[in-house]
Amino acid sequence: MDKRSLEKYRTLLEEKRGNLLKAYTRKKSLGSEVGGKERAADIVDMATDASTQEFLYSLSNSDRELLKAVENALTLMENDDFGECVECEERISKKRLDAVPWARYCVSCQELVETGRLRV
Ligand SMILES: [Zn+2]
Repeated sequence: MDKRSLEKYRTLLEEKRGNLLKAYTRKKSLGSEVGGKERAADIVDMATDASTQEFLYSLSNSDRELLKAVENALTLMENDDFGECVECEERISKKRLDAVPWARYCVSCQELVETGRLRV
């Protein structure tokens, strides 16, 4: 891949990582506020807080997955493997990388993963 495209994707990935980390920290402090309220609250409020906490937890879970994928892509970049499908080593199309710079698979392998025909 040419240097200019690489730099473009690196910027995109680093921006995404920054945003995720910010969101993650914000949610973590939000989570502790919910916890603090829970101790003082009556049972009705506690139920509300529990579902809020569950919601926050599920959010930070998917954020963590995404963060992992972004970090992974940056590592691949350092090793000069960025933009290649980790399964078949085909080049991932630029169109796909523009939409998902942290993509690990080419379109055909991604389809196999999503339909369960390729185990990851
Ligand atoms: Zn592939």
